[in-house]
Amino acid sequence: MAALDGLEQAVAEISAEMSGQTDRGKVADYIPQLGGVNPDQFGLAVVLADGRAICGGDADTAFSIQSISKVFTLTLALGKIGDSLWRRVGREPSGNPFNSIVQLEYEHGKPRNPFINAGALALADVILSGHRPREALGEILRFIRHVADDDGISIDQGVAISEQETGFRNAALANYMRSYAMLDNPVEFVLGVYFHHCAIAMSCRQLAMAARYLAFSGRHGPDGRTVISPERARRINAIMLTCGHYDGSGDFAFRVGIPGKSGVGGGILAVVPGRASVCVWSPGLDDNGNSRLGKIALERLSRRMGWSVFGA
Ligand code: GLN
Repeated sequence: MAALDGLEQAVAEISAEMSGQTDRGKVADYIPQLGGVNPDQFGLAVVLADGRAICGGDADTAFSIQSISKVFTLTLALGKIGDSLWRRVGREPSGNPFNSIVQLEYEHGKPRNPFINAGALALADVILSGHRPREALGEILRFIRHVADDDGISIDQGVAISEQETGFRNAALANYMRSYAMLDNPVEFVLGVYFHHCAIAMSCRQLAMAARYLAFSGRHGPDGRTVISPERARRINAIMLTCGHYDGSGDFAFRVGIPGKSGVGGGILAVVPGRASVCVWSPGLDDNGNSRLGKIALERLSRRMGWSVFGA
């Protein structure tokens, strides 16, 4: 299969090209536990319609998924309360850093979109309602294990505690939202769920497997089990495209041209509708908190494979 041969070569070549890069960005150290991660790592995994994974570099090394987890909590929150979620959180790009407080004040405690931190706190609050924090976390983890087909996925407690101890800004966001009655549950419960789902550790291969339902119209693959409706998958992809890289979302669409969600652990989960789910990881970040090499690698991959959703 010619197209597939091209892909294997592209993944191998891009992985090799990235290992030679010297300007790798800066590892996030505002979460102390992440500051110690070796920036020389790079992984890439592409999962195709038939479930095959094409991998390069450190594709099987687990890393902190951080904000990539918000794709899964968005799926769960929509599953729980449907479109009424949009009364709690908007769906417009923020044009601001992921942990900005200013915008929240202007907009009376309603987060601009589900992927900035404030928005993800609203998602955690929705998932938490009717549950204890431990049960809510169990639900998130079970869902991720289910879509990834992998029961070995777990939370890195060291990262969760590290973030809990230093998450003053997230605590400010949550308190602020609560002051506008935009959170239903106690602030410390919402923060606890949020910090722990951000601290889930997964490899590129596991994340690319987990995102198949977004690439294949809500199903594990073209003939696979249904996770969500095609319409919901389309909409989550749209929010990934417009909001997935915070104030770097426009440039990501311009350069890469596919829906993606980044995390400060250095991962980017990306979706090529109808073709593949992709995860790339390199811990060094650019100024917007997105993986520096991850973005370059995805730009090269999407260009070589003609994968931009805006045209070949
Ligand atoms: N847990 C991180 C935080 O709250 C997530 C941020 C991110 O990955 N962009 O700051």
